[in-house]
Amino acid sequence: MNSADSDSLFDALAHRGWLKASSLEEANLIIINTCSVREHAEARARARIAEIAAIKGRKTGRQPVQRLWVIGCMAQRLGMRLKETIPAVDAVVGAPELADPEAVIRRYLGDSREGTGTPLKPKICEFVPVMRGCNNFCAYCIVPFVRGREISEKAEMIVAAVEARAEAGVREVTLLGQNVNSYDDNGIDFPDLLRRIALISSLSRIRFLTSHPKDCTEKLIRVMAENEKICRHIHLPVQSGSDRILSLMNRKYTVERYRSLLAMIRRLLPGADITIDLMVGFPSETEEEFAATLAIVEEARFTTAFMFAYSVREGTTAAKFRDDLPRAVKIERLNRLIALQTAITRSIYGNMIGRTAAMMVCDRIEKRGETCLRGQDEGCKRILIPHAAAAPGTVLPVRILRSSGMTLIAERE
Ligand code: SAH
Ligand code: SF4
Repeated sequence: MNSADSDSLFDALAHRGWLKASSLEEANLIIINTCSVREHAEARARARIAEIAAIKGRKTGRQPVQRLWVIGCMAQRLGMRLKETIPAVDAVVGAPELADPEAVIRRYLGDSREGTGTPLKPKICEFVPVMRGCNNFCAYCIVPFVRGREISEKAEMIVAAVEARAEAGVREVTLLGQNVNSYDDNGIDFPDLLRRIALISSLSRIRFLTSHPKDCTEKLIRVMAENEKICRHIHLPVQSGSDRILSLMNRKYTVERYRSLLAMIRRLLPGADITIDLMVGFPSETEEEFAATLAIVEEARFTTAFMFAYSVREGTTAAKFRDDLPRAVKIERLNRLIALQTAITRSIYGNMIGRTAAMMVCDRIEKRGETCLRGQDEGCKRILIPHAAAAPGTVLPVRILRSSGMTLIAERE
């Protein structure tokens, strides 16, 4: 979501004639987009802001940096406190404001233009937010507080925006929402929206993120199965394998319900890649409850997982619970979980050897003096084809020869 917000602000600036600077020192405007979801993300953003504030204050012989904006979730959370602690910050723009980048630019830069607008070259794969905010209030999560309540974009507008992008050369879109399964535009639900977008002929692939298990329906999976363009990949974060922890987290599903969802997906979409988010060290999580998380990971064989240690977010329900697990315990559990999931991911990648896959060509790269095509299969697995040529945006049938780390090496079919 942050990437999508950064891109749309960048696009709006480019329309006013702003150009991408080749270095920080040369930039007239530096914009730092921030995430608040974990303490670690905020700590990194703070360090970066401080680093850039120092460059800004230091007059080199070159053009001094003129403006520093901090945008996004941390900007929303800390607001003017950020400007008070770091005076070099010129503007603080919260995440909800970014839904209208034109308004942000007018507010902070006025109507001035920097020259003639040069629209950016579209990428092959782009993010398209279909909804903003979240109503779920998972106990640990800051997102509903910093991104506000759920608002679905009008289906017509989304279809028109995707059509325009596809005309301009975009071949793959990832539809974004904190929980796309609660998308609703006057009765048009997310599977209906997917069906409409799948009709856009010049588009090759459609992905989406994230599906909350409590709202994932058979209708969604059937629409995926019926439409070749919709990647056979679903991101369905389970978070924990323990019912007590899931209930404390306010996730509104049980492990049994999650298991039956997995079975339905495997039946209707055989071979689909299922990816997840997992959290360890939620307040009061016992060793047995953590073992239940390991058990679901072992059993379900997810393709990949984003794995996190719980960190307290001020203002959330869980912030009222005692954060009773020492950091060392959280990290030790996280490492065990990562070791298990990494072994599973490697074995899934290994099982691909000798099989065919459809690869979306993203770009060409130089690797050890060779030109390789780089791309992804439907499940976002990275594929490299040495010594090959094809235009970015093409979907190629490939045969997997071997796997190297988290990359599949392939040849054209
Ligand atoms: N809307 C998505 C999640 C967005 S946040 C969903 O419901 O799945 C991305 C991930 O960050 C979450 O799935 C969770 O695993 C992790 N996360 C969120 N808050 C966290 C916290 N306080 N501490 C640690 N991890 C957290
Ligand atoms: Fe956070 Fe839960 Fe909303 Fe995801 S669904 S953004 S985890 S509150």
